[in-house]
Amino acid sequence: MQVPFGRPIIEEAEKQAVMDVLNGPILVHGPRAKQFEADFAAYTGAPHAVSVSNCTAGMHLVYFHLGLGPGDEVIVPAQTHTATAHAVALTGATPVFVDAEPHTGNMDPALIEAAVTPRTKALAVVHFLGLPADMNAIMAVARRHNLFVVEDCALAIGAKVDGTHVGLLGDAGVFSFYPVKHMTTAEGGMVITRHGDLADALRLKRAFGVDRTAEERTIPGTYEVVCLGFNYRMNELAAAMGIEQIKRMPDFLAARDRNDAALRKALAPIRGIRLLDREAPGRTPSFYCLSVILDEELAPRRFELVEKLKANGVGTSVYYPKPVPHMQYYKERYGNRDDQFPVAASISYRSIALPVGPHLDEAAMLFIADRLTSCISEIR
Ligand SMILES: *Cc1c(COP(=O)(O)O)cnc(C)c1O
Repeated sequence: MQVPFGRPIIEEAEKQAVMDVLNGPILVHGPRAKQFEADFAAYTGAPHAVSVSNCTAGMHLVYFHLGLGPGDEVIVPAQTHTATAHAVALTGATPVFVDAEPHTGNMDPALIEAAVTPRTKALAVVHFLGLPADMNAIMAVARRHNLFVVEDCALAIGAKVDGTHVGLLGDAGVFSFYPVKHMTTAEGGMVITRHGDLADALRLKRAFGVDRTAEERTIPGTYEVVCLGFNYRMNELAAAMGIEQIKRMPDFLAARDRNDAALRKALAPIRGIRLLDREAPGRTPSFYCLSVILDEELAPRRFELVEKLKANGVGTSVYYPKPVPHMQYYKERYGNRDDQFPVAASISYRSIALPVGPHLDEAAMLFIADRLTSCISEIR
């Protein structure tokens, strides 16, 4: 058996939808991006959804719109993809990192307040591997300090807090449709928000700050540039895939839930590893992968174990190789140090991510657990 970490599920419907776009005249600025926005809004219960070219672009767009620049600070979890911090740094503002909770890998709400300064303008939350962060505690801090909250939902589509879809608890939520995420448009992203004025501004600024979209111009050339903006639009090919993929989300999530439960059960007897929490009160997770945290004895052999698993047919990944503030750029540019963020470090440097995606079934989960058991005993 071969168990890849991730494999997009692209079927006839997606292929046909993409061919329909290619057979027509409209590749950008068409009906499909609008349809996908409407479908995504319906799926998440969002009042507004704005499609973008990818999640990083979406987060950058939001911070750009806030007018952040040098001298401003944004609080960012240490345990995340570098994109969460880059989106802040690209504006010239400084990402100020906060360590993780040991049992979930999410930002520790108890540490946020100490990171707030008079320069703090916003707070980024990441729902790590699909388990929502403690939004009630985080939003209480954000409200006390009047911080704009951006939820990086790249690994959390389908996740909810007290019945509300992630991305709608803060001010803006940004999703990724990169190939190994829960659903894909090859490259793509979506911003959802409760604020209509924010959605309007993002639509303007994702397309050059031009006041009328191409289809709104009855006479070519009759438009005005009212502000600075990017080209961060989603094209019609990606949107056509998104329309088909989002229909599959209920099945995708059910398969992920089944696989995660089966894999956890099968991993339980293995000595020398621990797992992050599967759930928390009031929070509905959206299982992205199952992260196995190696004990002190096994941790130094992590990459050996990864190679052994690969040789035995088990594809793995690492979420993420280091806390972002330990990455070279963030140490050199902002003076972060390796002895900071010990909890994120204890997860990042010791974990191996196992797949639970809908391309796999429960037999594959038993296979993964079996191979992990034998590979660990070989290196012990
Ligand atoms: C994948 C990922 C991103 C980046 O998404 P893109 O669509 O590739 O820009 C951002 N944040 C997190 C947490 C991710 O896992």
